[in-house]
Amino acid sequence: MFPYCKLKENDIKAYYGKLTIEDVEASLEKDQISFTDFMNLVSPAALPLIDRMREKASAVKKMYFGKTIRFYAPLYISNYCVNDCVYCGFRRTFKADRRRLSLQEILTEAEVIRGYGIDSLLLVSGEDPKAVSVSFLEEVVAELKKMFSYISIEIYPMDENGYRRLFNAGVHGLTMFQETYDSELYDKLHSGPKKNYEGRLKAPADGARAGFYNIGLGVLLGLYDWHIEAISMAAHALWLRKHFWKSKVQFSFPRITPVEGSFETPYPVSELELEQLLLAFRIFFRESDLYLSTRENADFRKRMSMTCVSHISAASKVIPGSYAVNVDKGLGQFTVKDKSSVAEIASQLEIEGLEPVFKDWDNCFGTGIKNDSLKTA
Ligand code: SF4
Repeated sequence: MFPYCKLKENDIKAYYGKLTIEDVEASLEKDQISFTDFMNLVSPAALPLIDRMREKASAVKKMYFGKTIRFYAPLYISNYCVNDCVYCGFRRTFKADRRRLSLQEILTEAEVIRGYGIDSLLLVSGEDPKAVSVSFLEEVVAELKKMFSYISIEIYPMDENGYRRLFNAGVHGLTMFQETYDSELYDKLHSGPKKNYEGRLKAPADGARAGFYNIGLGVLLGLYDWHIEAISMAAHALWLRKHFWKSKVQFSFPRITPVEGSFETPYPVSELELEQLLLAFRIFFRESDLYLSTRENADFRKRMSMTCVSHISAASKVIPGSYAVNVDKGLGQFTVKDKSSVAEIASQLEIEGLEPVFKDWDNCFGTGIKNDSLKTA
């Protein structure tokens, strides 16, 4: 469990043992739901009410986001990693050719993405501070800011000072997946610097202190019981909100996809369960951004865009350098299921009455603000 959560896993399981479908219905009838109602919506008892959850989530999404669906693209800059997470294609002990793109190669990739019309970029790398140093990232971001309004990062945990340097360079968002909130399981699955559970847990708070406007959380679905993980992630988000009200909390929902080395998913999450989870987050975290990547198939992403998800990636390449040179073989972090082009995805969503948005951020929101005044929170 998220360590600051007052509930323990056994409390939740005991509560779920007594929960009825009528309790879930009562939660769905409320205008504003409580944390307990959220727990009800992610419970096994809620699954038969999925149609009612779809209706409610759609109404909430319409109220806060209108018909919009926002696009972003990941840019993988390196697949070097010093960690050895058993479930990941980038893990240190997996023998494969590794690559870190040069500044020029990154700009070439970025030009392809910009050519799709996308204005929101997520910089991603394996976790290796030597391969991708803060200084290198500062240099990269300074150039990319000439092309993109919004840049966020999903790299490795760093201290507040490192995050502040990147914020001042023009990065506005940070994503840091805890993978699992179960500390014992976390210890078994990880080696290398990532084994430090507490260190990873505090990274989003350090990012918020450094000034990032958006802080993204996520668990890797399939590692553990998703009901428990969802409650932990929600508790973490509420804790961050309480302590860092200037930063918005966002959520991602990656399911484990096959990687070389055949990691067997211990707690598989079905598509219907993933939908339940997404709907519950939309109903409880009404105004929060929910992200869904190309790990999921095109039809599912379209349906989720209509009811709950606010951000989707498009035409993603997860092998460094593969936007510019179309390669299918190479070391990627996960298997891409939705291989549609940006234009194909946009037109499918328009047919459903949605409005694809490629730019939802402007440089005037943040560029140039030196954030030394936020050293303490
Ligand atoms: S999950 Fe992240 S830290 Fe772990 S091996 Fe993959 S890239 Fe490295």
